[in-house]
Amino acid sequence: MSSERMSAPGSPGRAAPSRALLINALELLRRPGSERTIDVELSAAELGLADARFHADDQVTVNLRLESLSDGIVVLGSIDVPWHGLCRRCLRELSEHTESEVDELYQTVVTDPDAFEIVGDQLDLLPMVRELALLDAPESPLCRPDCAGLCPICGIDLNEGSCNCEAPKAPSPWDVLDGLKARFDDN
Ligand SMILES: [Zn+2]
Ligand SMILES: [Zn+2]
Repeated sequence: MSSERMSAPGSPGRAAPSRALLINALELLRRPGSERTIDVELSAAELGLADARFHADDQVTVNLRLESLSDGIVVLGSIDVPWHGLCRRCLRELSEHTESEVDELYQTVVTDPDAFEIVGDQLDLLPMVRELALLDAPESPLCRPDCAGLCPICGIDLNEGSCNCEAPKAPSPWDVLDGLKARFDDN
């Protein structure tokens, strides 16, 4: 048997996968009712968040509480994810945070349809945290729910000023119906 090896370091400039979210599940499951808390900050790079919404150095805050049951481990808490993007209406640059609730169940033998499987002795929470971040960081954000956007003709930011352009009228469903009706009436 070889001695225990450290995981290989990541390639230069790339963070190694974080072990902060790797939990000894065996130990927790041995004593149902035992708890463990995880309060860590991990960079987007450590979590493998690589698309344009995330900057490598952004810190994702993970606050989780684990509690073991007789047949699994409940994971509760929240993660706070910084993200970046352009407002889909006015194209303003946004740097915001999204807080995601965590409420997951992990089981060695999956009996609950919503549960994840614990494979081996370790519970790796990193994939779950990464999935949540990817799901909850918006792909086409708004700077605010009622963002007025840009004038499609002159391009002025209608949140900051107004213009006298007359926007081309989009056909409403009623116009389309009227058109159809007119065609039937002609026949
Ligand atoms: Zn906007
Ligand atoms: Zn205009």
